[in-house]
Amino acid sequence: MRFLWVLVVLFFFQQGFSQVERVEPPNWWTGFKNTNLQLLVKEEAIGSFTAEVNYPGVSLKKINKADSPNYLFLDVSISETAKPGTFDIVFKDGKGTQKTLVYELKARDQSPEDFIGFNSSDVIYLITPDRFANANPSNDVNTSLLEKTINRENDYGRHGGDIQGITDHLNYIQEMGFTAVWPTPMLTNNMPRSSYHGYAITDFYEVDPRFGTLEEYKNLAATIHRKDMKLIMDMVANHCGVEHWWMKDFPFDDWVNQEQAYKNKEPLFNSNHRRTTNQDLYASQRDKDEMSQGWFVSAMPDLNQRNPFMAQYIIQNNIWWIETLHLNGIRQDTYPYSDKEFMSDWAGAIMNEYPNFSIVGEEWSTNPLLVAYWQDGHKNKDGYKSNLKSSMDFPMQANIVQALNEEETWGTGLVKLYEGLANDFAYTTPEEILIFPDNHDMSRIFTQLKGDIPNTKMALATILTLPRIPQIYYGTEILMNDFEKPGDHGLLRGDFPGGWKGDKTNAFTGEGLSTDQKDMQEFLNKVLNYRKNSKAIQKGKTIHFAPFMGTYFLFRTLGEETVVMILNKNENPTTIDLKRYTEMGLDYKELTNIITGEKMKWSDSITLNKKGVVLLTTKK
Ligand code: CA
Repeated sequence: MRFLWVLVVLFFFQQGFSQVERVEPPNWWTGFKNTNLQLLVKEEAIGSFTAEVNYPGVSLKKINKADSPNYLFLDVSISETAKPGTFDIVFKDGKGTQKTLVYELKARDQSPEDFIGFNSSDVIYLITPDRFANANPSNDVNTSLLEKTINRENDYGRHGGDIQGITDHLNYIQEMGFTAVWPTPMLTNNMPRSSYHGYAITDFYEVDPRFGTLEEYKNLAATIHRKDMKLIMDMVANHCGVEHWWMKDFPFDDWVNQEQAYKNKEPLFNSNHRRTTNQDLYASQRDKDEMSQGWFVSAMPDLNQRNPFMAQYIIQNNIWWIETLHLNGIRQDTYPYSDKEFMSDWAGAIMNEYPNFSIVGEEWSTNPLLVAYWQDGHKNKDGYKSNLKSSMDFPMQANIVQALNEEETWGTGLVKLYEGLANDFAYTTPEEILIFPDNHDMSRIFTQLKGDIPNTKMALATILTLPRIPQIYYGTEILMNDFEKPGDHGLLRGDFPGGWKGDKTNAFTGEGLSTDQKDMQEFLNKVLNYRKNSKAIQKGKTIHFAPFMGTYFLFRTLGEETVVMILNKNENPTTIDLKRYTEMGLDYKELTNIITGEKMKWSDSITLNKKGVVLLTTKK
């Protein structure tokens, strides 16, 4: 019996972590430019303890008490001479109680310059992981979490897709011609319902066990990198899920916005979603506060990034993931809802450590002035510097849909695309802005274009030819749609056929696909694989001509390579006089159709037999 007790005591002595409930970040690295690290330590009554560190090159600069007695925030400095290794942080309460936390500083295993961001040479495949492929049915349900069921019949239920499902299908993604993968968030969403979407994070350091493990996420990243592809992580700085662990014991009284009202169970206000208050010269303080301090929805508490401990928490958390997974980029959710000064510090802190990294921020606005405002380098009237490389082209997305859905008149139809692209003069670097036919929050492009296949091909060709970084949502290649309930989130994030054992249709192999679906898959495959090696599309000069007789001609040129995109909305054969385009220097040259491989001579005229897109190249 006594021997057993000795064993028990020895066990606890060995387990340094067992003495402290939580420390975040769970580890750090030596060799960052910023030598400061702030540790969140959570443990009952830890606020009345002091702390000591004894490790060469590491010093404890300041012990910050929180409003809750159960937290300490330790300001640690890690000098350039600090070596990787583990050390003890010893907590004492002055009454003889001692707690020890073993902390690890790892060596960085990739040079900061080698975190290469996404750019206009890439095409990003956006995936809703719960809906893409279920490689591991044994992780579908986790009874320790609040949502305990899986139901593929319920659009808002979990369907079982996981990280391994993405890893298993990287060959398909790569062969289609995509070069980067952006899965929507895969961190724990311990929410009672709709946890599948991932944006209500309840633990910023944990992979949702229904998606898999940290090791599986690391393996996904490593496999992507072995294929010379890129991984983008979807981050949420604005909010968490209401079931987040800190909602039961907030470190500070202003950790989330409207915290007192939440604690007192008083009514809370949601954001007014008036995103222009970030730029509006005349916006009232009330509107600004409602915008940035209102909760996005009642299930998603609004993080208060004006609290400096919260600000540092988010920055360090994101750096921890970049370093752990060797990320290439971040997509930051709901950009204009966070404190904008914080977002500038956040992006600046990341770019300072990773000079070649990429970040794209989501601002859902069809106003190009707002897209321009958020992109770094833009001369903003209020002096705001975003440090953000890329913003999102919701304006052009809308222009493309209008251009195709509208009838051709002087002021409608293709002219929307022509005039939309003219707005590029407002952007610092148009080629670093993200363009997309749709995304996980919008009706699918095939639905937006009313099921019109030639129009869908024209939209996709445009997105892949413009001077932009294109992103395409999974399933676009097989005409996935939401006709049944247009715009319904659960539905438009439908299951990718073939991702589940027993699926009758398999889009990975083509089995069971309709002729139209196969044709679209092949079309996208051809355009994507051409684009992959096309310097003209990736970096070339852009010239376009005003719409003419129901057609629109856009040229991308670099050196000997010219790519011609012709959009034609005429149902009947139409002949266009090519003299209009003489300045492009293509007269009497032989061009190849990128889709069909057919050769044609650029001579006096071209006859377009049917509605649709023609993509031509001077490349042999
Ligand atoms: Ca699964």
